[in-house]
Amino acid sequence: MIIIMLGAQGTGKGTVAGLISEQIGWPQISTGDIFRKNISEKTILGIEASKYTEKGELVPDEITVPMVEDRLNWEDAQEGAILDGFPRTIEQAEKLDEMLKKNNKKVDLVINLVTPKEEIIERMLTRRVCTNQECKATYNIKLHPPVKEGICDKCGAPLKQRADDSDPEAIKKRLEIYEEKTSPLVEYYKNKGVIRTEKVSVEINRMGKDVAEDIVKEIKNK
Ligand code: ADP
Ligand code: ZN
Repeated sequence: MIIIMLGAQGTGKGTVAGLISEQIGWPQISTGDIFRKNISEKTILGIEASKYTEKGELVPDEITVPMVEDRLNWEDAQEGAILDGFPRTIEQAEKLDEMLKKNNKKVDLVINLVTPKEEIIERMLTRRVCTNQECKATYNIKLHPPVKEGICDKCGAPLKQRADDSDPEAIKKRLEIYEEKTSPLVEYYKNKGVIRTEKVSVEINRMGKDVAEDIVKEIKNK
């Protein structure tokens, strides 16, 4: 089963994907995480990608698409996978359909997370991530802070703010790209009948973990 996480920055895509992955056992494939890992390890792919990620721009498809295709071919992704951060444009969605088709697979479910704009910016500014690349846990200093300030609950490594989360220009750019390039995917997947829109907001007291819980239950009942 191929699941895609859709939704603007800060809606909790990573949290939902991580929880489903933990409980079902399918890998969470986050393009942003793969880029950040390569950037911290200074691989060729990382050096190339950082030119774009630093500014909040999309990394070109020539780099991104083969990277995802390779990851989807790993043994651990054969039964199912949760894509988090890909596709981000109609072109990427079409390329994904093509690569899945080669293996007689398709996109089965698209979880579209929707959060009010003011809440999104606030969440991006208060987001913190674990510096341990094997852990990558995310926190929010207001909504779910770590037990000990600045330290990851899961592995004890220091937490930090992502470079693109501390730069207001990069935040603005990412939200603009989301509106312009990524949001048309809602219509794309609506037409395929696979979209499921979930409102996530403190206002209605429904957060990523609640969405994940519902979806895991449904998958397990199938
Ligand atoms: P966010 O959704 O908060 O912007 P991600 O962790 O998903 O952050 O991605 C971080 C950066 O990695 C993006 O700003 C972009 O530069 C790059 N990136 C991630 N996924 C893609 C993708 N599918 N296509 C192109 N660039 C991507
Ligand atoms: Zn950690």
